[in-house]
Amino acid sequence: MTLTMGLRRSLALDGRAEALVSAETRLSRREFVDRVARLAAALQDLGMRDGDRVAMLAANGHRYVEFYFGVLWGGGVIVPINSRFALAEMIEQARDAEPVVLIVDDAFAATGEELVKNVPSIAALVIAGNATAANRAAKSIGYEDALSGAKPTADAMRKESDLACLFYTGGTTGRSKGVMLSHGNLWANAMATIAHLGLDENLVHLHSGPLFHLGAGARVYTTAVAGGKHVVVSRFTPQQALATIAREKVTVATFVPTMLAMLLELPDLEGYDLSSLRLITYGASPMPEPVLQECLRRLPQVRFAQSYGMTELSPVATMLGAEHHMPGTPPSRLRSAGRPVYSAEVRVADTEDRELPRGKVGEIIVRGPIVMMGYWRKPELTAETLRNGWMHTGDSGYFDDDGFLFIADRIKDMIISGGENVYSIEVENAIASHPDVAECAVIGIPDPRWGEAVHAIVVARAGADLTAEEIQRHCRAAIAGYKCPRSVDLRSEPLPQSSVNKIDKAALRAPFWSGRTRQIN
Ligand code: ATP
Ligand code: MG
Repeated sequence: MTLTMGLRRSLALDGRAEALVSAETRLSRREFVDRVARLAAALQDLGMRDGDRVAMLAANGHRYVEFYFGVLWGGGVIVPINSRFALAEMIEQARDAEPVVLIVDDAFAATGEELVKNVPSIAALVIAGNATAANRAAKSIGYEDALSGAKPTADAMRKESDLACLFYTGGTTGRSKGVMLSHGNLWANAMATIAHLGLDENLVHLHSGPLFHLGAGARVYTTAVAGGKHVVVSRFTPQQALATIAREKVTVATFVPTMLAMLLELPDLEGYDLSSLRLITYGASPMPEPVLQECLRRLPQVRFAQSYGMTELSPVATMLGAEHHMPGTPPSRLRSAGRPVYSAEVRVADTEDRELPRGKVGEIIVRGPIVMMGYWRKPELTAETLRNGWMHTGDSGYFDDDGFLFIADRIKDMIISGGENVYSIEVENAIASHPDVAECAVIGIPDPRWGEAVHAIVVARAGADLTAEEIQRHCRAAIAGYKCPRSVDLRSEPLPQSSVNKIDKAALRAPFWSGRTRQIN
């Protein structure tokens, strides 16, 4: 109810103002809310009841944003499907979530039919796009036909404690799992984000990350609660993102670090009119410090803020605000993930959940209204993760004396070499600070003497003449000897990425560990 309330509030402020812009359409607040209420009615006509799941498989577009609200308005639960998955993975996700309706766009019409065949719970397929009635499969209906045939219905007014979404995690550390987030979880995240970033109805937010991922999704809800305008690009390219910012007078944009690195590769970056853009927020994976420094240098008129979090935390737990990115900020602070947001209590703890002294590395644990309801249909995993009233993040880190959190590593990625803990992020930062390095990843590989040895995979900048010895020499000057890579693999291909643009360390590790078990504590 609280998330859809934002729509009614913005309507009451001024129904004529624009709410949603995509490559295909521009909708006023009145038109947007009308389409949301019609979609809700159409889904109810197709059998959706309170608490039923509705899945979406599509590229970003205005209909994806309508799905986010139409399903909730009608009493249902949204399940965005990862569009980069292989068909077998999509079937697995859909069988797990058991949606009653599946919405696809034209590009996924054939995949949608496969899903209908393989997922017994799906009673209807809605094709959002221009597919004609003649070439539609059984059980399917056109999105626009469904909307025009429906009478706008009243908001189902679900409660804050009710399930609103099932978002699947990025699958970086293993099988992706369904995270149950309530209306109240997403509301708490929206309110904290609004407070920290100073957002209001003048917000024009660029959604350029995939909307099947909560990193982008939470911003959709936040924008609506603030009463702002959504600008959706169908697929991220640096040129399209910058041209859209200039054309639509975007005020806030969200990127993951890889996207920012791609923006910096544009030789004419400074040529775009970014005068409306007051803030870029970034997060979701570690930010290489040299990339951030270059952003600050080349985009001096834009402010930056970092968030750290995860799907299970709706997703933001800490933020490094714009005030800590200003000239004069100690450079070490730019490596920090910031301080807890208003909606989170964050602790660095030992294995008994006792608070560790500042400076000591331990597991990051979190409690507060942003903590998920649990993993969908995984009670054991839920109990393991939500213990003693705290959400256990699986990330390790420490607080400095000023209360800034530094992420050390994912606990599963930590390298134990000769009994010493080596945090891959620290080694990656040392390597990334070399001017000839474009990309790098550090992993542990089996070693008869040390248990695990530090191994670096490095992509050099085009035209650079970089050697393994040079990387090792550079590291020895920056970090302790036992942390320096014992071996370096120089590659010319970009590193493999997961479906949400994170470096896929599991894939990098696999060839070294086949047939062996990696011991992690
Ligand atoms: P899975 O849980 O399925 O393995 P995932 O953890 O990558 O996938 P997400 O919920 O998208 O799925 O990502 C959360 C993780 O991303 C965090 O646990 C953390 O390791 C990393 N992360 C998020 N924000 C930051 C940040 N600002 N700096 C460093 N790491 C970050
Ligand atoms: Mg995770």
